[in-house]
Amino acid sequence: MGPNAASGPERYRAEGWWRAELLDDLVLRHAADGAGGADRPAVAGPRPLTHRGLAEAVDAAAHRLAGAGVQAPGPVLVQLPNSVELLVLALALIRAGRPPILAHPALREHELEPVVADLAPVAAAIPAATGSTDHPAMLRGLLRRRPGPHPLLVLGPGERRPDEADLAALCAPGGAPAPRPHTADPRDTALYFLSSGTTGPPKPIPRTHEALGSVLRAAADAAGLGPDSVYLAALPATHSFTCAHPGMLGALAQGGSVAFAATADADVLLELAEEHRATHTALVPGLAEQLLSRAADSGAAPRSLRAVQVGGARLAPETARRIRAGLGCRVQQVYGMSEGLLTFTRLDDPEDVADLTQGRPVAPGDELLVAGPDGRPVPPGEQGELWTRGPSTITAYAGRAAGEPGRFGPEGHYRTGDLVRIDAAGNVAVTGRVKDVINRGGEKIAADDLEAVIARHPGVRAAAAVGFPHPLYGEGVCAVVVPGGPPDGDAPPTLRGLRAFLRGEGVAAFKLPDRVLAVDALPTAGIGKVDKEALRRLAADRTTDRAAGPARAG
Ligand code: AMP
Repeated sequence: MGPNAASGPERYRAEGWWRAELLDDLVLRHAADGAGGADRPAVAGPRPLTHRGLAEAVDAAAHRLAGAGVQAPGPVLVQLPNSVELLVLALALIRAGRPPILAHPALREHELEPVVADLAPVAAAIPAATGSTDHPAMLRGLLRRRPGPHPLLVLGPGERRPDEADLAALCAPGGAPAPRPHTADPRDTALYFLSSGTTGPPKPIPRTHEALGSVLRAAADAAGLGPDSVYLAALPATHSFTCAHPGMLGALAQGGSVAFAATADADVLLELAEEHRATHTALVPGLAEQLLSRAADSGAAPRSLRAVQVGGARLAPETARRIRAGLGCRVQQVYGMSEGLLTFTRLDDPEDVADLTQGRPVAPGDELLVAGPDGRPVPPGEQGELWTRGPSTITAYAGRAAGEPGRFGPEGHYRTGDLVRIDAAGNVAVTGRVKDVINRGGEKIAADDLEAVIARHPGVRAAAAVGFPHPLYGEGVCAVVVPGGPPDGDAPPTLRGLRAFLRGEGVAAFKLPDRVLAVDALPTAGIGKVDKEALRRLAADRTTDRAAGPARAG
């Protein structure tokens, strides 16, 4: 069965899984609700908005884009912290037919340069310079390599330069409601997520209105979001989980409201949850642990929470139980990916399913295939790599990776790189992975990409990056280096030295090694491939002083 036959877009539309509906219309549909929905809260916080107010702000912002210098057609890079401006701007760009490229605020030149080369954004929305990071300078440097003016939409204090527009003013409510400046097609790309990467740099994931709309509706239903829900956006809302799986957009599409946490700090989250009477939030396991321990310390769990979604990395069953008891709410396990597929445990699942599995697909029509190394299905209940295709999942990346078949099987399946088992009731349990990725507290790091940068250090002849058990992040990053670059090369790097070097190379902070080990040679297996398993064992064994410098191993 080919990807376009019984499982392709025509079927998805015929079944009603993909609807002829624009994503912004779906999210803002309550603005026109004459029965009172339009006047219900949509955004909580210092600048609250009703659903009607949000839709007006989005229209006004879409109208003001040209005045802010965003005139050329094309996508806009959006690298903003969680804020009402992120929400308003993203919807305004979608409405104006200029897909936002949603980028994690922690990404730096190393990760963004390939994205800029791939998608040629015509503008960027970023925070103002702070003591530690000068986003405007970074984006100016990246965009300068492309022809044409590249206005920067800047959020935060400070004077604006001639090529900068004030994002808060652009997103402010008020002004005459603007006519819709652009009529998009539901088959168009509404926005781009960035893949967290399995190999190489981040790849742009184009999400069409119809496909993302179908995931959003199904995920919002399965999460139990409704008009009374208050969704606390805790993790970066530029990521699919907090953006649209179901995230802030899902909460709004159900008539609920959103509160934004600018940083994923446990104390801040507890305060915001209490202040806004949050009913739902989404966390990675490490953050859920922190929230639990802060709630226990202060003796105050937020009483309003009904359900906490936990995903992005493996949740220990014991932690699931403790969240339920400690936060007094349901735990919904989430497995999925920005490429599309989402599985959730259901809110009424029995505890063994809720604690031990990551549930079932939320959207109808998604096909799951558990494949052996030869790409053939393994017997039911056995472990294999999860391949998926269906209405939720892309069939190609955008940019240079568009033509790469690597991550896709011959019949259009997306190869997740994750090892799973599926039980008789269809519940997926993630058991491991075949891709060479380090999952540091939910942030994914493609080992090959990091290794290539480490190997550029003048004191390093060869390098590998592996995960090791980390008390806070689940997995930490261990750089294994073979010292001795060129004859006049430097000494092998200390941990601090290597981190500084990588920062200088424009690598995002969450990828910086937590540990460095020096070895005489990288062990190999089979036909000479680096033996990552052996390195993982070595990295896990070391109990050296991490700050002092590399431990010599053997
Ligand atoms: P992203 O595209 O950034 O959402 O990352 C998707 C990847 O995160 C998946 O392919 C898995 O490797 C990992 N992941 C997501 N959810 C879980 C989970 N519940 N348990 C284990 N790994 C997960």
